Amino acid sequence: MYIHPLKGYKEAFTPSQFDSTLPQDTITLIDQSGSDKHVAPFLKPSLEAFENPERIEMTLQYLEETKSLEGIKTFKTAQATKEEALLVHKPYLVQSVELMSELGGGVLGEAAWASEDLWSSAMHALGGALLAGELVASKACRHSFALVRPPGHHATTSSSMGLCFFNNVAIAVKKIQAENGIRRVSILDIDDHFGNGTSEIFYEDPNVQFISIHEYDYMSYGIGHYREVGHGNGCGTNINIPLHMESPDSSYQTAMDKVVAPAIERFNPDIIAVSAGFDAHFADPIGEMAIDSRTYWYIASMVERLVKSCDMKGSFWVLEGGYNPLTLGPCIRATLEGLQGKPCPELEDQEPRDEEEDVVKFNRRIIKRILNTVSPFF
Ligand SMILES: [Zn+2]
Repeated sequence: MYIHPLKGYKEAFTPSQFDSTLPQDTITLIDQSGSDKHVAPFLKPSLEAFENPERIEMTLQYLEETKSLEGIKTFKTAQATKEEALLVHKPYLVQSVELMSELGGGVLGEAAWASEDLWSSAMHALGGALLAGELVASKACRHSFALVRPPGHHATTSSSMGLCFFNNVAIAVKKIQAENGIRRVSILDIDDHFGNGTSEIFYEDPNVQFISIHEYDYMSYGIGHYREVGHGNGCGTNINIPLHMESPDSSYQTAMDKVVAPAIERFNPDIIAVSAGFDAHFADPIGEMAIDSRTYWYIASMVERLVKSCDMKGSFWVLEGGYNPLTLGPCIRATLEGLQGKPCPELEDQEPRDEEEDVVKFNRRIIKRILNTVSPFF
């Protein structure tokens, strides 16, 4: 399919050059199209091949064609620096991503393959996340969304894995804490999969609350359990909400109402960072949950309400998963409308679906147990 380039977009610029006169209620979108050529070199078709440049190109095309970017300020991302990647990662990890890209490709970790374009793509993705964080932390805008790839939330301090090389959100959080006077941050990870990297990075940090709603893998990894609550000074700041596969919209809304909203209110952060994965959509080829764009609108609306009620600076969102390029557009459109305080739009991916009653009951029981586990820390 031919994807036409967007018209009227700003050229690449360095983060320090953003327009600080933007009104504070502005929403910005930072896009990486053209600087995300990385494609894992596969010898045969594989699920991981869905993580490719079309995710961004087709999303931008959808947003433009549906006029979803009206009133939204758009920027192009610029490349981050090695020093910025080192705010979180070991030098070994950063050097191996660079070296493996120079060599033209190779294996960097479990489900983490380099290509000759990986270094440039990963550093531009990180640049987009950093800009998204900086725009909100400096009060240049209220909410920002970095439409970038490859994703980041599985990357730990020392390991690339699960299609992730640099932990974009974690580095952006460290950067605004170091340079913008931000003290407390709540990270909300809504990707289908557990954000193991981000959880590990902040597991003992009392100033960063990590909340993850994810599909719990009862069979294989066994990580992301609700009993993982943080350690040492960070005890109580890690909140895992593992839901059953095929969880519907109603379970996500219950998790947001009963756990996420009260936890963030009690933590009272300066900013919310969102690891914005959209692979919990029912039509996603990799995730196995059963929600649609209405839930992403619901989450975004709640984030906007929390920003207002807790008098925060705002929220910044960084793309993680979401591998059906036909549903990423509607989900991100619904997200942007939620952040703008608009009513839930009726979109083409929304359809009546039967809820699995057993799944809903299971999730209710899990959410009760989560509350019993984490509420002593509130
Ligand atoms: Zn995912």
